[in-house]
Amino acid sequence: QQILLEVNGLKMHFPIKAGILQRTVGHVKAVDDISFHVKKGETLGIVGESGCGKSTMGRSLIRLYEPTDGEIIFEGHDITRLSEAKLRPLIRRKMQMVFQDPFASLNPRKSLVSTLTEPLKAHGLYGNSKERVERVKELLEVVGLHAASLNNYPHEFSGGQRQRIGIARALVLNPELIIADEAVSALDVSIQSQIINLLEDLQDQFNLTYIFISHDLSVVRHIADRVGVMYLGKLVEIADKDELYKEPLHPYTQSLLSAVPVIRKKGVKPRERIVLKGDIPSPANPPSGCIFHTRCPAKMKICETVMPEFKKVNEHRSVACHLYK
Ligand code: SF4
Ligand code: MG
Repeated sequence: QQILLEVNGLKMHFPIKAGILQRTVGHVKAVDDISFHVKKGETLGIVGESGCGKSTMGRSLIRLYEPTDGEIIFEGHDITRLSEAKLRPLIRRKMQMVFQDPFASLNPRKSLVSTLTEPLKAHGLYGNSKERVERVKELLEVVGLHAASLNNYPHEFSGGQRQRIGIARALVLNPELIIADEAVSALDVSIQSQIINLLEDLQDQFNLTYIFISHDLSVVRHIADRVGVMYLGKLVEIADKDELYKEPLHPYTQSLLSAVPVIRKKGVKPRERIVLKGDIPSPANPPSGCIFHTRCPAKMKICETVMPEFKKVNEHRSVACHLYK
């Protein structure tokens, strides 16, 4: 399988300014030295608690920010520091985002048809407005909305319908990669599964690649092929989904999964709930050594001072923890 996106040592550090002179007094390490790849046609899930940097990571991939360090390679092109003019033809069409709250990301004064034809116009696709409207009608059908709603405004749609609009807007330019950031988190459970099924159908139909960011491990289990776990700006484990859910290696992954409700099976011992002590430390002042050592139930002496490398433990799996050599 071809690699679509490769991320090497990505860092997003935001300066903290203070005083009248607004001097930089430190940095929030929102994303700190992350490496992974995404294969064409797969879904990579990214999980972690709020504040772990997963949204910032997603947004830096589509270059909403310029990374502090590292590399982002998309379809073989290094896009890490490209100017907006160069990004436009290369990335702005091919990478799209779907956000948690489609209502907030839709302009309330724009009808559905103008929301969806605008990107086509901006990218100079399709000759005239009639052709653009045709494309949009086609698309509405694809995402399960009525072509009759073309002239409706965002407030006239339900939450689930708005997320379908959000998805249509992401699809309108025929992208390769869609980054979904908590795309179903604000929806009712029954609507969640409709939207997830829609995303899966679209993936098959258009050979799309997804990065699916969520704090909800049950949702990610449903949709992802591989899963990466983030804690305090770092990727601590990445693995094939089945392996990760069956046997999490990193103590943080173990604690996250222990909180996921499971259906009891006869003869299978339920996973014991691991409750972590303490709070997540500040990303402005992360702990020395292993970033998880202040809360890790398996902490050893070495963990306080030596940062574990993010290492491959087998063909499909990497983990950053001194327990694994
Ligand atoms: Fe826990 Fe040490 Fe592993 Fe960090 S390196 S997760 S502190 S055992
Ligand atoms: Mg899939």
